Amino acid sequence: MDFGISPKMQDILARVREFVEKELYPLEPEARDRGFKAMVPQLREKRAKVKQLGLWCPQISREHGGLGLTLLEHGMVSEVLGRSTLGHYSFNCQAPDAGNMEILVQFGTDEQKKKWLRPLVEGEIRSCFSMTEPERPGSNPVWMDTTAVKEGNEWVINGRKWFTSSYDGAAFAIVMAVTNPEAPPHKRASQIIVPTNTPGFKFVRNVPLFGHEGDDYDSHAEVVYENCRVPVENVLGEPGAGFAIAQERLGPGRIHHCMRWMGICERSFDLMCQRAATRELAPGKPLGTQQIIQQWIAESRAEINAARLMVLEAAWKIDNQGMAEAREEISCIKFFCADVLLKVIDRAIQVHGAMGITSDTPLATYWRNERGARIYDGADEVHKMVVAKRVLGRYGVKIS
Ligand SMILES: Cc1cc2nc3c(=O)[nH]c(=O)nc-3n(C[C@H](O)[C@H](O)[C@H](O)COP(=O)(O)OP(=O)(O)OC[C@H]3O[C@@H](n4cnc5c(N)ncnc54)[C@H](O)[C@@H]3O)c2cc1C
Repeated sequence: MDFGISPKMQDILARVREFVEKELYPLEPEARDRGFKAMVPQLREKRAKVKQLGLWCPQISREHGGLGLTLLEHGMVSEVLGRSTLGHYSFNCQAPDAGNMEILVQFGTDEQKKKWLRPLVEGEIRSCFSMTEPERPGSNPVWMDTTAVKEGNEWVINGRKWFTSSYDGAAFAIVMAVTNPEAPPHKRASQIIVPTNTPGFKFVRNVPLFGHEGDDYDSHAEVVYENCRVPVENVLGEPGAGFAIAQERLGPGRIHHCMRWMGICERSFDLMCQRAATRELAPGKPLGTQQIIQQWIAESRAEINAARLMVLEAAWKIDNQGMAEAREEISCIKFFCADVLLKVIDRAIQVHGAMGITSDTPLATYWRNERGARIYDGADEVHKMVVAKRVLGRYGVKIS
């Protein structure tokens, strides 16, 4: 693995960083006060500037209208963007759209690409991904109640989903539904494109996170599909390929998230150090003179460095050896980085005292938005099980 950062990437990273610091940091206090929807017009202007700078959609190939970075390169950009709560959205590489773009590139028909991928890459529309159900464990996604039954040339979809993130304002959802109930568990479900204005696709509520309902892109909806009909050609790939496609989506998705978290870690770390250097316990005696604060700073520094290297190695392995070869690394980074992320945010909050849980810094927003890091895209426990199973398998232990 080559750790050198090419001159091309050094230039891109410097320009992204400058944009994030100059254009996005100043908007953050207003975004915290007024919510995401109120910021959309200003963010539209920022997005236009990103396009002009030639930095738009870094993770998508040039052929499809992006910057065409490798996963490793995009990981580095994702870290810089992660420093701002508005970073990924402004560059059109935010979850869940980024993952939806990737699977449309990989599995979409020409017609699906024209109708859904192109406007998504252009930033004209947003999308969501609708898999998790309130009544069934997301950790065992093959156990799912939502069905899509073929009637004539339509799918008729019925079911209830929640945590369909960013449904609010999206043009379409990609829903996971059981289409082949008699098939083996991992071949039962399909991913189907459902425009949000389809009759029978009903919004229930934005599920509040720690009391915060959010809106627009910053939201997590509960939705119902009630005899919701879409054309058969809206299926992605072959019917029954839903889980295979989901696997393809999750590998890069975890690199994107983990590197975004590294950006949050670095910003939180900066804030923690600044506070430690300037908050005086007594005249001339800043907080940073206390050993416990020094310990938090040192531990955070080491943990962030370690986590970043693990993610870059996993990204490199996916780029060079493929997803299957990197499965263990992908699970390792998912739980390790989520743990580092929450520890660093928590320490930074603690160093700020009461201020840390106010909206005067981004720290409280980070905590609210990122506590889910240990749950989404596979809970910690599931990833630890995956790693242990593979490791022990090499020692002859079989775990079912
Ligand atoms: C912020 C956020 C955004 C999300 N966005 C989306 C989205 O856009 N689309 C979407 O479809 N879903 C989304 N989700 C849902 C997410 O994918 C699920 O929450 C996740 O898969 C876990 O499922 P669950 O919540 O049903 O928990 P459950 O499966 O009920 O698990 C509960 C807990 O049980 C434990 N556990 C589970 N399995 C095991 C095991 N094998 N061994 C030991 N312990 C175990 C874990 O601690 C886990 O947290 C989002 C979730 C969050 C928090």
